[in-house]
Amino acid sequence: MSSAISPRSSSAPSPLALYVHWPFCVSKCPYCDFNSHVRESVDQAAWAKALLADLAHEAEALPGRRLTSIFFGGGTPSLMPPSTVAAILDAAERHWGFAEDIEITLEANPSSVEAARFADLAAAGVNRASLGVQALDDQALHFLGRAHGVDEALRALQTAQGLFGRVSFDLIYARPGQPLPDWEAELTRAIGYGTEHLSLYQLTIEPGTRFHTEAAAGRLVIPDGDAAADLFETTRSLTAAAGLPAYETSNHAAPGAESRHNLTYWRYGDYAGIGPGAHGRREGVATVRRKKPENWMTAVDRNGHGIEQEESLPPVTRATEALVMGLRLTEGVDLSRVAALAEGRPMVDENAATRMAAQGLIRRDGDRLIVTDAGALLLDAILRDLVI
Ligand code: SF4
Repeated sequence: MSSAISPRSSSAPSPLALYVHWPFCVSKCPYCDFNSHVRESVDQAAWAKALLADLAHEAEALPGRRLTSIFFGGGTPSLMPPSTVAAILDAAERHWGFAEDIEITLEANPSSVEAARFADLAAAGVNRASLGVQALDDQALHFLGRAHGVDEALRALQTAQGLFGRVSFDLIYARPGQPLPDWEAELTRAIGYGTEHLSLYQLTIEPGTRFHTEAAAGRLVIPDGDAAADLFETTRSLTAAAGLPAYETSNHAAPGAESRHNLTYWRYGDYAGIGPGAHGRREGVATVRRKKPENWMTAVDRNGHGIEQEESLPPVTRATEALVMGLRLTEGVDLSRVAALAEGRPMVDENAATRMAAQGLIRRDGDRLIVTDAGALLLDAILRDLVI
């Protein structure tokens, strides 16, 4: 299957993305290894002030650029006061200016409390919502530790579709004991809601989560091997048939409706990241901010920014990152750009590439190297063998 997106031409203006991390959630989901924390109360005025300071620091480090996308992620950024979202958008526009078609996404949980804020978030400037629906089955939602039910999620989805120009939602599949026909029915129902974009993730067991403890004790087993492959292939074929083909390992969209923000990551463009634990890549410099909310806040108070580490990446690291990110995309990765980043050092094991091409796992298209549908499930193993 080919991608609906056209790879960025070298003459297109270089995109700049901004990621804003809001680290708080009402409860911790048992599968979640994101930088998310539960706190009894949040000093909203102090948080707004600190995020604006962190933002100003990034703007100073990356002058003369225009923002092409902003993404509020978390945590649960739909719990942010809309006034804080508005203040960040206002400041970001003053610092950098916005591209005419800027994409401004906010992740939201589909609870009634958060849906009640959607109108104010849209008025603040958010033009794309990404909803963590996660399942269209109440039992599965309970198992995943979600606070919402299916009916509540669908009401929130409808509200979002009425307010935001663009809407996506997430589902988690390959849940323990999930039969293939059940997932087919659930995904068909999901497609029927008519969003332009779907993020469909296989459940994975991450260290440090409650599910990890359960799995280690043998109380939780997720589909693997052929069962996982069948679920993945069904996901790809159903979404493609519905006009929402995969453009990345887990992301599916109508042509032109891909997440521009995430494309900037996967195409190894520049992005500023603010808030606890946020990563950034600015012109070859990697930034990482303090992860624990309280530590990040102390750092901003003391230094005017929350950065814990800032380092200029060596060419080979940049080239490796570009290769690893780009191979997630169905458009593949531009090897001439990878070679330029690597400054002449070979990055791809040609013997492994020839073998994998013969196995149908990867293919070449001019300068581009592309992982095929057959290879997509084996991406980690392919990267291990392919990248020098
Ligand atoms: S709502 Fe999202 S970020 Fe928060 S704990 Fe659940 S999965 Fe993690």
